[in-house]
Amino acid sequence: LKILIIGQGLAGSVLGLTLLERGHQIFIIDNQAPVTSTKVAAGLFNPITGLNRTKTWKAEQLFPFLKTFYPKIQATVGGNFYHELPIYMPFSSLEIQNEWMAKSGETYWKQWIDISDKDHVFEPFVNNDFGGMETKQSGWLNTEEFILKVADYFNGLGILKICNFTRENYSITQDKIDFAGTLYDKIIYCNGIGLNNDPLFSWLNFAPVKGDIFEIEVDKLPTSHIVNKNGFILPLTKGGFRAGSTYNNFFDDPVSITPKGFDELKEKIQNILKTEFKILKHIAATRPATKDRRPLLGSHPKYNSIIVFNGLGTKGVSLAPYLAAHLADFIEQKTELFPEVNIQRCMKNYLPEHQNV
Ligand SMILES: Cc1cc2nc3c(=O)[nH]c(=O)nc-3n(C[C@H](O)[C@H](O)[C@H](O)COP(=O)(O)OP(=O)(O)OC[C@H]3O[C@@H](n4cnc5c(N)ncnc54)[C@H](O)[C@@H]3O)c2cc1C
Repeated sequence: LKILIIGQGLAGSVLGLTLLERGHQIFIIDNQAPVTSTKVAAGLFNPITGLNRTKTWKAEQLFPFLKTFYPKIQATVGGNFYHELPIYMPFSSLEIQNEWMAKSGETYWKQWIDISDKDHVFEPFVNNDFGGMETKQSGWLNTEEFILKVADYFNGLGILKICNFTRENYSITQDKIDFAGTLYDKIIYCNGIGLNNDPLFSWLNFAPVKGDIFEIEVDKLPTSHIVNKNGFILPLTKGGFRAGSTYNNFFDDPVSITPKGFDELKEKIQNILKTEFKILKHIAATRPATKDRRPLLGSHPKYNSIIVFNGLGTKGVSLAPYLAAHLADFIEQKTELFPEVNIQRCMKNYLPEHQNV
């Protein structure tokens, strides 16, 4: 098929690579927004997430898949963006410690966690009075480097163009999309929070979440692990650490840094670390998230050739490879979409005023 992808963030890059590999003819446009979710993200992939530390949705499928996907892409496009690394998670109470001690003996949990034997290594730096555990199958993707390398690769193939996609520069004719004088079979929205501005999809349960990140210096903090305790500290390959992050549903501007974001994140990091740290840089961006915390995949109900691949929220790195393959299967008519990610779940909000757009 001849497919136009809008947006070359994490979603558009992963989907573009997936569709290319399957032999489709793709073309990607991106408006080069200077600050985006992908450019700011920490890029962690972690099977145990959330305040209650639950196993992430479909972890059994997502994690083996990403573990093959990113290294394969790295071998193709070059760079050093994929890093497997355990996450050291201090327990917050004796009760939680007991709970995870019990779980760590169960066969099911053994594939994801171990009780850590590194408590003494982190003790001088991290608040870990109750000890901690470590995740397996975790790590981080340098998302900014990833999309830069993929952009070089796409440019080499002549399939990437800097361009702003608007309602005025395309039209729909007989199940095809005419964009800038070329006809496409499908057009796929991978436009991150840009989806907010598109009347075609205003009925989706999109709910972007702003977040802040610091780059920090912490003297002698071990770099063998990412540390995570209601916030994370991630050792960077170039030296120093990345620390994050905040979650704000209400904000005036999606990309500006604010004193509130600064204070909130500083407090989070102070709760993790016993030692002093120096803040070198503060950045912020907004995650393309949804109210039910599940991605948005599927065809527009009126225009079948307009497809969305968005809503990756806080977990784009782990979700994108597997769901891009899933969406490709759907486009090739090999499968129905999982109900949890299918935009059909928002149809109750698709009212007459949306149908005339
Ligand atoms: C502070 C913070 C921390 C995060 N940490 C993590 C983490 O640890 N792990 C994790 O997995 N995820 C994390 N994320 C989330 C992650 O960034 C997202 O899940 C993912 O990057 C979203 O990618 P995307 O391609 O959907 O959106 P984006 O990155 O927003 O990309 C959209 C692209 O579309 C382009 N575009 C938009 N509109 C148009 C248009 N009209 N025409 C042309 N191009 C257009 C934009 O320029 C952009 O390049 C974090 C995000 C933030 C903000």
